[in-house]
Amino acid sequence: MSTAFVTHSDCLKHDMGAHHPERPERLGAIEDQLIASGVGQYLARHEAPLATDEQLARVHPIDYVRAIRQAAPQEGTVHLDPDTAMNPHTLDAALRAAGAAVLGVDLVLSGKFSSSFCSVRPPGHHACRARPMGFCIFNNVAVAARHAIHAHGLKRVAIIDFDVHHGNGTEDIFQNDPHVLMASTFQHPFYPYSGTEDPAPNMVNVPLAAGAGSREFREAVREAWVPALEEFRPELILFSAGFDAHTEDDMAMLRFSDLDYGWVTEQMKALAERHAKGRMVSLLEGGYALSALGRSAVQHIKVLAGLHA
Ligand SMILES: [Zn+2]
Repeated sequence: MSTAFVTHSDCLKHDMGAHHPERPERLGAIEDQLIASGVGQYLARHEAPLATDEQLARVHPIDYVRAIRQAAPQEGTVHLDPDTAMNPHTLDAALRAAGAAVLGVDLVLSGKFSSSFCSVRPPGHHACRARPMGFCIFNNVAVAARHAIHAHGLKRVAIIDFDVHHGNGTEDIFQNDPHVLMASTFQHPFYPYSGTEDPAPNMVNVPLAAGAGSREFREAVREAWVPALEEFRPELILFSAGFDAHTEDDMAMLRFSDLDYGWVTEQMKALAERHAKGRMVSLLEGGYALSALGRSAVQHIKVLAGLHA
């Protein structure tokens, strides 16, 4: 077994309302496609632990973590921002999502697995140091990166973000941090309208215009991401794996295909093999068209697991 699959049933209980696109069924869509494709049987399933305050405080001020704990309702729903709400299960889901990131890193850096995929929600890449935003509460990929650096002593961690939205929270946390290189593509201009104004030197941001598809995405990866990553020589590659740039996803207007997600994973895997002993940890971000989300996630996971022909 080479790939761990980290998830938790608490992540299914976080529910922001019947019409909210970031809904529990997203995780089921991935599970369904893992079964349909036969890929699921090759993954080692792990339950996500709850992240600790110490792990979260490497990314967020401890007062922010406490404020989130205090905001958690006993019943009903509280809104943290217009798009982001907590029900009585959200706190545990958010702690499991960040805890999955920690376990995903531990399983890979201990040498037990070469890669891991964390199928969790709420997502994380819009969560800033001290602000929830855009369906996100704790920045899961940032918790993963800081855990790799602080608990495992890594010096260089890459974050690959192919979600259709710019990972403004991740950028807020890591801009000018010499231990982290973030490479991203995102639709622009589009929510959250960031990523293009004078990004820090460790941010490789490639904005894509509405309507851009495989060709523009692959060009960005080949011409912007790969040279920067080769120079950085990451010891671990993390993915903010959002699948909402898919052509079937009407959250946004990019036109990626299922196969683009396998392709980009292959490119990053080749880099990981050259510099990072093949080590990759991937965390689910967006992706709201259920069938496309499931199929695209499986293309990505297949390559992580070395199951592609
Ligand atoms: Zn997104």
